[in-house]
Amino acid sequence: MRLRKFNVLIIVVLMMISCVQVLPPTLTPTTTVVPPTKTATVSPTPPPVEADAGAAGIGDSLYPGLGNGGYDVQHYTLDLTVNDVSTSNLDGITTIEARATENLSSFNLDFIGFKIDTIVVNGESATFGRDGQELTITPSTPLAKNQPFTVEVKYQGSPESTSSTAIPIQIGWISFSQGSFVMSEPDGAADFYPVNDHPLDKATYTFRVTVPKPFEVAANGLLKESDDHGTTTTYLFETRDPMASYLATIDIGDFNTETMESARGIPIRNYYAATLPKDVNKPFARQGEMLDYFSSTFGPYPFEVYGALVLNVQVGTALENQTMSVFGNDMIDPQNVKETELTVAHEMAHQWFGDSVSVADWSDIWLNESFATYSEGLWIEHTDGRKALDEWIKNVYGFVRENQGRMSPPGKPPADDLFNAGVYYWGALGLHALRLEVGDETFFKILQSYYKQYAGGNAGTADFIAVAEKVSGKDLGAFFDSWLYSDTLAPIPELGLRTK
Ligand SMILES: [Zn+2]
Repeated sequence: MRLRKFNVLIIVVLMMISCVQVLPPTLTPTTTVVPPTKTATVSPTPPPVEADAGAAGIGDSLYPGLGNGGYDVQHYTLDLTVNDVSTSNLDGITTIEARATENLSSFNLDFIGFKIDTIVVNGESATFGRDGQELTITPSTPLAKNQPFTVEVKYQGSPESTSSTAIPIQIGWISFSQGSFVMSEPDGAADFYPVNDHPLDKATYTFRVTVPKPFEVAANGLLKESDDHGTTTTYLFETRDPMASYLATIDIGDFNTETMESARGIPIRNYYAATLPKDVNKPFARQGEMLDYFSSTFGPYPFEVYGALVLNVQVGTALENQTMSVFGNDMIDPQNVKETELTVAHEMAHQWFGDSVSVADWSDIWLNESFATYSEGLWIEHTDGRKALDEWIKNVYGFVRENQGRMSPPGKPPADDLFNAGVYYWGALGLHALRLEVGDETFFKILQSYYKQYAGGNAGTADFIAVAEKVSGKDLGAFFDSWLYSDTLAPIPELGLRTK
């Protein structure tokens, strides 16, 4: 994720104005039901004798209520029929294929709003209760540990306006005058489908979305089919790789599309809101080069496709939805391609760090944001050389030094301000300091080893430190303590940078 307030800040920094004001967030973004493809089967094993309720949280240190315990989801199928795009009134059937990790008398999903019509587990009607975001489902027969099960939830209504304690902006499914979009980090997914809403439980997705003409649908992964029903169209998207729930996106509007391919053959499809000026695509022209550059720097691109979607609405945010980053129009300036390319690079780098390697706990968010921010610096180095990177580091250091009181050290973000500038810029400085500490060759080996080891899964801060120590052969405990947890900004003596 990248926030517009940071664009403003860093531009100001780049202009070398000494008195930088940290702005408060100005972010106020504004039926054909197809039956599920997989036939539900009743588990052949006898019901367990001892079964307990699954936990209502997955154990996140910052957000204990997020996610749920007792099962592991493999696949979500979202069948959504949007009856009215202006209100996003929809009929939904979400089918979940999961495996129990303990004997379960009941289990929870995270789900906000909507009227639930029926819930069916393993083909049999289940009872359910709701308490805020927690949806507790009691199957007619308890679920046995290690056995697969399916859940089908039928619901109707419009997504509720939802904001997170982590960031004071509207998240989830958001309707606006030209359509709707989804940006969910960290906990907005439950705003449009019942879900085990935590990055620890990744799954693959099928999206089958029906919209009235002339609207179109864009979603993660590849468009496999579009069926014309006369007055409506059904779009079928599939993701190849497991995905964290907050990265699922369904965007509805009138789009111009653009396809291209990187020199190494990574396919790209971009969606631009049809009402945007024609030159909106200028900052995206080098995405192929970026994909290939990051592939050679971090490791092979993780997914089957990449692309950008630009909305014609001010959102104040861009988000690295898996295989398709989504940008508000206020994040893109076709007149300032160089500056905008940093945002494009940031979201793209998250495909490796954040999307493929996901956080194990939200307190590890610097593993996403500092890596994506440092990747902006890497793009500067790639295009303009090491001196330009050094200048950028000096500017970022000055910015962090001047605004330190308004940010947290990268390794300990507060629950109510997860996306503060510390997890972006302070942490990016720490990565550059690591590079200077171990040398270029070792530093990039660390990034590659870390990516290779955790691609498609989850990692925590201790995992990254362990990789860094193993690859470098150095004890880096004190180094990481000073860069991730100390309230004092550490010096970078090689560039003459220190706090006054
Ligand atoms: Zn980001």
